Amino acid sequence: MKRLVWFRGKDLRVDDHGPLHDAQEAAACVFVLDPYFFAPDRAQRMANRIAFLLESLQELQHTISALGGQLIVVAGRSQEVIPRLARQLGVDEVVAHRWTEPFARTRDQQVASALHVPFRLYEGETLLPPGQIRTGKGSPYAVFTPYSRMFGKVFEPCPPLPAPARIRSIRAPVELKSVPIPTPDELNLTTSPQRLRGGEGAAKERLERFIGDRMQQYDTGRDQMGLSGTSRLSQDLKFGTVSVRSVWHRVLSEVDPHPSREAFLRELIWREFSHSCLWHRPSLLETPFRDAWRDFPWADDDEGWDKWATGQTGFPIVDASARELLATGFVHNRARMVSASFLTKHLRIDFRRGEAHYMTHLTDGDWAQNTAGWQWAAGCGCDAQPYFRVFNPMRQGERFDPEGDYVRKWVPELSKLSNRYIHAPWTAPKDCLDAAGLVLGETYPHPVVDHATARNEYLELARNFLRS
Ligand code: FAD
Repeated sequence: MKRLVWFRGKDLRVDDHGPLHDAQEAAACVFVLDPYFFAPDRAQRMANRIAFLLESLQELQHTISALGGQLIVVAGRSQEVIPRLARQLGVDEVVAHRWTEPFARTRDQQVASALHVPFRLYEGETLLPPGQIRTGKGSPYAVFTPYSRMFGKVFEPCPPLPAPARIRSIRAPVELKSVPIPTPDELNLTTSPQRLRGGEGAAKERLERFIGDRMQQYDTGRDQMGLSGTSRLSQDLKFGTVSVRSVWHRVLSEVDPHPSREAFLRELIWREFSHSCLWHRPSLLETPFRDAWRDFPWADDDEGWDKWATGQTGFPIVDASARELLATGFVHNRARMVSASFLTKHLRIDFRRGEAHYMTHLTDGDWAQNTAGWQWAAGCGCDAQPYFRVFNPMRQGERFDPEGDYVRKWVPELSKLSNRYIHAPWTAPKDCLDAAGLVLGETYPHPVVDHATARNEYLELARNFLRS
C-alpha cells in the first residue's frame, strides 16, 4: 500500500510517529507551507513559534533523507495541495495525526471530502484521543480531579514506536518540485533573542537532561521561579519534536515512584484536560467557559495594558514575567499565573487580550493550553481559580522567588535592592533605594495601582456582576 504521510507541524519527528511507522512499504512524506500559518504577515504575528517550527522542519528533512526518504515541501492551501499530491503520487491513502483545534477539524473535513482516497487520522497529539474521557452520563468533564481519576482508570500506557530503520520513498513525478524551507529571515520574523531552538535532537536532549538533573526535585522546584526546575518541554510537546507518549514512557521507565514523578505526570494530565476541554467546547477560543462571565465589564485601559505588556507596572514579579516573555518566548508557569491574574483582576483587562499576547510571543503557544490557562486565571474557565482568589504579587514573589533571583534576572534595575524589598520596592526606605541606585518613577516605575484598592474594587465589581 502506498501512503502519503502528511506531517503538519505537531509531529515533527521520526520517533513514535504512527503514520510514518505504518507506511513502511512505501511512503511519500509531505509538509505543506499553508498560507494560514506561513504567509509572511501571519507568520510574523507568531514569530517564535514559526521559527521553532521551521528549524524543526529543516532537521526533519535531513533525518528523513538520512533514512532514505524524501520530505516533499509544497506551498499552498492544504485543502488543495493534499488532494492534488495524492493524485500525482498515486497513493492509496493519506495519513496524518489528528489536531484538536476547531479550525483544524474543519480543514480535515474539507481535505477528506476533496480526496479521492481515504484520509486516516492517527491519535498522538495527546495520550488519549481528546474526546475519549467522559463522565458516567457521557458528558465531558469540567473539573480536573475527577477527569484525572478517570484518566488513571482508562489510560493504558504502551511503549512508543521506534523510528523506521529505512523509509521507502514513493518516487515523485518530475513535475512535482519540493520548494526550499524558508528561513526565519526570509519570512522577516523578529524573534526573541534568547528563544530555544527547534528540532527532534534538541528535544531529546532536553528530556534526558530533565530526567537526569531535575526530575527528582520537580515537586518542590517546579514553583520556584528563580530555578530551572521544570522540564522546558512545552514547545517540544506542542510541535511534536518529542511525543507525549515518549515523555510519559521515559519518565515511567527511568524514574522510581516518587512525589516528583507523580507531580510531573499530573501536569501531562493537565495538558490532556486542556485538550479535552477544547475538543468538547470549541467556543472556548472565543468565549468564557462560564456563561455568567460573558458580558463582564472589562476595563478599556490601554495605558495599563502597555505597562503590563512591556513590564513597567511597578510590580517586580509581574514585570519580570512580561520581560522574560519578550526576551525568551517563554514564561515560568507560576509567573504566568501571577501575571495573568494581575492583568485580569488588578487591571481588569479582558483575558482575551492577554491570551492573544501570549499566542503572539510564546514559543509553546498552544490554543488549548493557553486558553485554559487564561480562563483559569481569570476565573471564568473549566475548573478555574475562583474569582475571589486574587494573587498577591508581593506574597507570590516572597514565596516563589525568595532570593529575588527571578526578578533580578529580568528586571536588572532592581538587582541591587535587598531581598527584603525586592518584591515591593515602593516600601523601601530612601537610604535603601539610594544604596541600590534606584529612583522610583525614574529608573523603575511606581506601582500602576495600589494592590489593596485594586483588589477590593475588583472583588466588589465581580461580586455584584456575578450576583446580578
Ligand atoms: P513542566 O512543568 O515541565 O510540565 C511538563 C508539561 O506539562 C509541559 O511542557 C506542558 O505541556 C504540560 N503542562 C504543565 N503545566 C500545565 C498546565 N498548567 N496546563 C496544561 N498543561 C501543562 N502551556 C503550553 O504548553 N502552552 C501555552 O500556550 C500555555 N499558556 C499558558 C497560559 C497561562 C496564563 C498559564 C497559567 C499557563 C499556560 N500554560 C501553557 C501551562 C504552563 O504554564 C506551561 O505548560 C509550562 O510553563 C511549560 O513549562 P515546562 O515545559 O517546563 O513545564
